[in-house]
Amino acid sequence: MEVKKAEFVCSNTRVDKLPAPNLPEYAFIGRSNVGKSSLINAMTNKKGLAKTSQKPGKTQLINHFIIDDTWYLVDLPGYGFAKASKTSRNEWEKFIRRYLTHRDNLQCVFVLVDSRLEPQKIDLDFCYWLGECGLPFMLVFTKADKQSAVKSDANIAKFKKELLQWFEEVPPIFLTSAEKKVGHEPILETINEVNR
Ligand code: GDP
Repeated sequence: MEVKKAEFVCSNTRVDKLPAPNLPEYAFIGRSNVGKSSLINAMTNKKGLAKTSQKPGKTQLINHFIIDDTWYLVDLPGYGFAKASKTSRNEWEKFIRRYLTHRDNLQCVFVLVDSRLEPQKIDLDFCYWLGECGLPFMLVFTKADKQSAVKSDANIAKFKKELLQWFEEVPPIFLTSAEKKVGHEPILETINEVNR
């Protein structure tokens, strides 16, 4: 499965200005610097589609991309940026929560997690919140090339264990490396299946 066409549609600061919800939509979110832009660029085979390494927390935008004229990929602003003020963090939360809970065509949220790290409270809290809202989500562990497979697997196992304290089962999990271009195919296949 390969993306043939990926185009930027619009950036929004307001939920009421989003494109008409006429296509299935998939949102990507995670802590800033988790590798979200790199993942989007690797998945879509377009180097500059999502901007990599913007100043963390600076752009509070919902970015829509249209993929193969059939679905929307949504790049959400990263959370957990240390430099942002409390007010801007609250604004982020309101804005994103509003988007996630009001978007009728949203099929699934892909939560990105850094595979090098032990489970982080901020990522777990976000997953619990998605669960409370009844929003379907899947986990994408990033930067797999940065350590051994054993280490990645150990961190993933710990994350699953934490989730199982709250959830009856764990969601689908993908392990990716934007650097080595691995793990993107299964994500695209999953999206394709849902769209069918
Ligand atoms: P974002 O803030 O979540 O959009 O993160 P970026 O995509 O900008 O990535 C943050 C940093 O991590 C950049 O320096 C990327 O080059 C690096 N990075 C992202 N994904 C990978 C990966 O899979 N492997 C490696 N080695 N570095 C990565």
